[in-house]
Amino acid sequence: MAKNFLKVTCKDCGSEATIYSRSTSLISCTVCGATLSIPSGGKANLIGCTVLETLE
Ligand SMILES: [Zn+2]
Repeated sequence: MAKNFLKVTCKDCGSEATIYSRSTSLISCTVCGATLSIPSGGKANLIGCTVLETLE
C-alpha cells in the first residue's frame, strides 16, 4: 500500500514527471502545461499522463 510517488510521462509531449499519488492539487506538465492529474477522493486521478513506474 506504499504507492506514494508515480513516475509518469505526459501524453502530449512525452516529458517525464514524478507526482505524488495522493496529491490534492491539480498537477500540470512543466513542459507543455497539459493537465496530468486532478485530485479525486483523496488520490490523484491521472488524466493526461501514463504511469511508467511506481516509486516507494
Ligand atoms: Zn507535456
